[in-house]
Amino acid sequence: MLNRRDCLLAAAAGLLVAGVPRLAGAQSLAETDAPKVPAPKGATVLLNGSDLSAWVNRKDGQPAGWTRGDGWIEVNPGTGDIITQERFQDYRLHVEFWLPYMPEASGQARANSGVYNQGRLEVQVLDSYGQPPRDNEAGGIYQVAVPLRNGSKKPAHWQTYDIVYRAPRFGPDGKQTEKGRISVRHNGLVIHHNVAFDARTTTSGLPPENKDYSKPGPILLQDHGNKVRYRNIWIVPM
Ligand code: MG
Repeated sequence: MLNRRDCLLAAAAGLLVAGVPRLAGAQSLAETDAPKVPAPKGATVLLNGSDLSAWVNRKDGQPAGWTRGDGWIEVNPGTGDIITQERFQDYRLHVEFWLPYMPEASGQARANSGVYNQGRLEVQVLDSYGQPPRDNEAGGIYQVAVPLRNGSKKPAHWQTYDIVYRAPRFGPDGKQTEKGRISVRHNGLVIHHNVAFDARTTTSGLPPENKDYSKPGPILLQDHGNKVRYRNIWIVPM
């Protein structure tokens, strides 16, 4: 008969053994689509399938020229970034995206796009599967913060970002009084936790006349020349 100590040892061994298939399971998650997350009550739906009506071309405000597919939109390379018509300041944002498999490309040329918060702060979209986390790899806050881990799936699978964003605050003299704050989950994994940032625009954000962080800004999706897809985006202003 097993005594209490033996039972504990057996239980610990079981956990260790159970840990092996769990790791394998975690790896296989990289080859599955993230489930579609319906917009909660109170959310504003920014993208549902291929309906681009909430978006315009960043440069001229004309209708967004991205490709409308079967339940998704896709970057139409060269047509430019798209932005929401509505402006936001503090919010929770859910984004579902899909990266093309581009074995011939590497680094920043491999399925690059981006989700810009308030039109200025980019959460990088990139095929970074298997890469160490960096500010310019998937989930990185470009030039600002390295992700805590790499939450990437393999390309050609649907992935998610869940972003909580609070814009920087300013006094009447225009000086920043509080840093902005951002948290990000990538495929459910926490990759940024309440990161503080000063008002700034990361590369390719909105042009100077729109750099006033005291004002709400659009959500911006980047055309970096690669056919990245988006299918379900919603936002809950806070
Ligand atoms: Mg990018």
